[in-house]
Amino acid sequence: EEAQRLDSEYVVYTPGLQTIPKEAIALIGELRRAIDKDELYLEYQAKVTVNEHRLISAEALVRWKHPGLGIISPGAFIPYAEKSDLINPMTEWVIEKALLQLRQWQEQGFFTKIAINISTRNLQVAGFADRLKEQLEKYKISPESIELEVTEWTFMKDQQNVLESLEKLSQIPIFLAIDDFGTGYSSLQYINRIPGNSIKIDRSFINQIDNDPGVFQVVRAAVRIGHALGMEVVAEGVETDIQYNMVQKAQCDAVQGYYIHRPSSPEELYNQYVGKKTKNDN
Ligand code: C2E
Ligand code: MG
Ligand code: MG
Ligand code: MG
Repeated sequence: EEAQRLDSEYVVYTPGLQTIPKEAIALIGELRRAIDKDELYLEYQAKVTVNEHRLISAEALVRWKHPGLGIISPGAFIPYAEKSDLINPMTEWVIEKALLQLRQWQEQGFFTKIAINISTRNLQVAGFADRLKEQLEKYKISPESIELEVTEWTFMKDQQNVLESLEKLSQIPIFLAIDDFGTGYSSLQYINRIPGNSIKIDRSFINQIDNDPGVFQVVRAAVRIGHALGMEVVAEGVETDIQYNMVQKAQCDAVQGYYIHRPSSPEELYNQYVGKKTKNDN
């Protein structure tokens, strides 16, 4: 009985001593196929200016439509893809798909930027920046039309190849956003050294901003630091009007969250920002 229980739980050990649930191993095995079979798809979530609600960009968020398990959220497979090399073909797929979408929107007269999430492991690949440049040329997309989001943990790696990739990207120049800002533990040590254009204050702060005055002050201070360093400051995960008002009071520049727009299909985003307008005009 003991053996059976163990068998169904966390039985696979990697050399790094991390335990990976057995189901996740199966998923990783299937992810390769999923990429080739187009089982992955992207939803898009608007990022808008705080004051005018003007659309700045649409963040691409990957989902997996698994034939047996239904829709799997990225939190359930990206961490494992990141531990294997599969994160590289996956990111390649995401970038291709997002650029194709942007191309299509531009042809439809819908002009926005697209934000793409990138893993640290992607930046460890020498030539990541050159490859992206090629992809931009292939789809005739100007670099100003895209933003890359990397978590602040990326900057703490202090690995030569990662730093080189970031440097090359910022020279293209690609707009770099620091995602989940505030969840790393030595933010103040590196914030002035990193080539970031914006910081996205993590949802864990925003969902406390309305019931903890200290959290509001921390967000306010993060906004001041970001602005002092010439960065745009974004609040992520705004869900209520009270949180929205607090974020505005803290002088964030932009906002993202269910309160503004949930992640949705590209058609829905298009209709919200272009289709609707045309309808009202008639
Ligand atoms: P993230 O980049 O910080 O994205 C924000 C996450 O918060 C998304 O979850 C989004 O759906 C969710 N969110 C947005 N607004 C709200 C809100 O108001 N309330 C709540 N409760 N949640 C909100 P999602 O789509 O499940 O993605 C989770 C994470 O997976 C992302 O966090 C990102 O780190 C990663 N991810 C998603 N797509 C990709 C991708 O294409 N490549 C890579 N490397 N990572 C990705
Ligand atoms: Mg993100
Ligand atoms: Mg984020
Ligand atoms: Mg986040």
